[in-house]
Amino acid sequence: MKNVLITGAAGFLGSHLVDKFLQEGFRVYGMDNLITGNLDNLKHLDANSNFTFINHDVSNYINFEGDLHYILHFASPASPIDYLKIPIQTLKVGSLGTHNLLGLAKAKNARMLIASTSEVYGDPLIHPQTEEYYGNVNPIGPRGVYDEAKRFQEAMTMAYHTYHGVETRIVRIFNTYGPRMRLNDGRVIPAFMGQALRGEDLTVFGDGSQTRSFCYVADQVAGIYKLLFSDYVNPVNIGNPVEISIADFAKEIIKLTGTTQKVIYKPLPINDPLQRCPDISKAKEILGWEPQVNREEGMRITFDYFKSLSQEELFKKEHKDFKAYSKN
Ligand code: UDP
Repeated sequence: MKNVLITGAAGFLGSHLVDKFLQEGFRVYGMDNLITGNLDNLKHLDANSNFTFINHDVSNYINFEGDLHYILHFASPASPIDYLKIPIQTLKVGSLGTHNLLGLAKAKNARMLIASTSEVYGDPLIHPQTEEYYGNVNPIGPRGVYDEAKRFQEAMTMAYHTYHGVETRIVRIFNTYGPRMRLNDGRVIPAFMGQALRGEDLTVFGDGSQTRSFCYVADQVAGIYKLLFSDYVNPVNIGNPVEISIADFAKEIIKLTGTTQKVIYKPLPINDPLQRCPDISKAKEILGWEPQVNREEGMRITFDYFKSLSQEELFKKEHKDFKAYSKN
């Protein structure tokens, strides 16, 4: 049996990766410091003897006894509003955390995949974004703590590959959604769905002309799994190339949820990318991967998940103040 360590295991993507690797017959060690992760995402594994949870902050030295064959580094705050709240931890987990894990990968002779992001492209000047594009990032803007940590993470990962011969893989993840997203993480899908469920107006930031492309979590996990077992070392975009403006997306959510509330407009956050859409030619060619779940189906499953949350969870106040990083 092969052993895999997944960091950020109690988070949205991490917990789905844990499930995938258990289904595929791995012995899984899930690590998380629970800053933004939630053990509820793993509670269905309580009786699973192939899963071990380790409460640890990967920005500190990692002591791991025994063999490790694979490491997936998915620990990081991942929503713009989280970076603002915990900017130093965001920088540390992408930099120090990655360094510690690469050291562990080297010591254990394990293959390591890091979760990079479309944010390395910043507010992109080319469209759609190919892996060759170097990006347009403001290092001192509110998103800089995440974007630059992830850019550093890629550089550190390539250096360990080049200089130490560690086997590495880099996935650049574009907006991904599905069950287990945090209702109040501030991102647009949980935000709109939560607002619909609470009977609040839907908050579109800016004029809503900015675009995003949303990838369903099962597709994302399938792409990551294929990348890990490919022999391709350079970064690969994994995301859904079907693009939609946020204003049109709000209309879709109104239709899906049946809410009678209206759309209200709020200031656009600083450095909010105006257009984002992955070029997935590499993933198609190299991995034979492309998304299978369309937005209608994925959003329906996701809305069913948010509907299943308790009233207490639905009305819990967290991260409701986005003003801190908007222009006025
Ligand atoms: N957004 C919005 N209303 C919200 C939350 C987000 O209009 O209540 C917008 C946000 O300004 C951005 C897009 O939706 O243009 C996606 O934001 P998200 O935080 O989900 O992730 P990002 O892609 O910006 O990292």
